[in-house]
Amino acid sequence: MPDASSFSPDYVSARARFRAAALAAGADLAACSLGLNGPTGEDLTIDFARLGSLQADRVVLFSSGLHGIEGFVGAAIQCALLEEGLGSWSPPSDQAVLFLHGLNPWGMAHGRRVNEDNIDLNRNFLGPEEPWRGLPEGFNEVERLLHPRGPRPRPDLFTLRALLLSLRHGRAAIHAPAVGQYDRPRGLFFGGNGPSRANLRLREVLARWIGQPAELLHLDLHSGVGPWADAVLLAEASASTPEFLRLERGFDAVRVLAAPSEGSVRGAFLPWMKSQLSGVRYTGLTAEFGTVSPLRLLKALRDENRAWHHEPHGSPAFVNAREALAQVLVPPSRRWRERVAPLGVRIAQRTLQLGLGAPVNDAPVP
Ligand SMILES: [Zn+2]
Repeated sequence: MPDASSFSPDYVSARARFRAAALAAGADLAACSLGLNGPTGEDLTIDFARLGSLQADRVVLFSSGLHGIEGFVGAAIQCALLEEGLGSWSPPSDQAVLFLHGLNPWGMAHGRRVNEDNIDLNRNFLGPEEPWRGLPEGFNEVERLLHPRGPRPRPDLFTLRALLLSLRHGRAAIHAPAVGQYDRPRGLFFGGNGPSRANLRLREVLARWIGQPAELLHLDLHSGVGPWADAVLLAEASASTPEFLRLERGFDAVRVLAAPSEGSVRGAFLPWMKSQLSGVRYTGLTAEFGTVSPLRLLKALRDENRAWHHEPHGSPAFVNAREALAQVLVPPSRRWRERVAPLGVRIAQRTLQLGLGAPVNDAPVP
């Protein structure tokens, strides 16, 4: 039964467990080095596992760790699925199940949501014509609150200042920068000034790893957004389209939200995946496992970002900010983990049924 023990304490053990679980399930494995090291000198890799033939027509893909530290939640679900959720099932010749582990292994190994260049990878997949610059509308109003310079002023009054900003500019104003910015390399939601290492490496290997299926359903695993220990699925499909209605019906008990018609994130990963897989009927879903309120989450992100750039590494303020980030992205709470691991596996099993078009097995659903 997936539970709190599905979670790994650090990147090295998460990767080792993923590899072992994939091998035990009969998967083929590959690792793609990014030429970077973790805190104990380990080589950082994006790991890939494949159950089923490269010629499969219907494929389901589970990816984790696009946002570094959030990868501990995604990896727990991937491992629990491989270790227990698949039972004795193995795919028939026209189906395959793929796993991408640790898309931002540097962030996962170093406890950050961003990568080695402070890049939010989910803002780094711009299309070929899109400029690597720009600030979102309303950015200037919130910049001073989100990007404080230097050591933390005391008292900080973040919540009060955020409230005043909301009163002046509307409730959504404070979250406006979250759609991505390209002009503040040390800021939050920085999309980069060019493709990141992970982006470039994925371009090289993705087609080889995925093959040429007719259909691919992709579940990208994240944490932080939504009600505590509950899940929300963000579909890369507009409301009322047949694709969206299929997903909404398919995940009946889990909330599925349609892609917003405007104000959407720049450089997001899933639309880029779709663009790379021409000829494939691609459906992307982001799974979010909720923790705290959006304002608390934003404060933790902002405090950690400030500490990373402006506090001596290892100082008490630095350590506190990093622990606070871990609390809101991979809550250590046993109750949270005991709810999220089985919920994640149930969602993954449902994704398999939807993506492969048939019940996967009759193994006990946790
Ligand atoms: Zn995320």
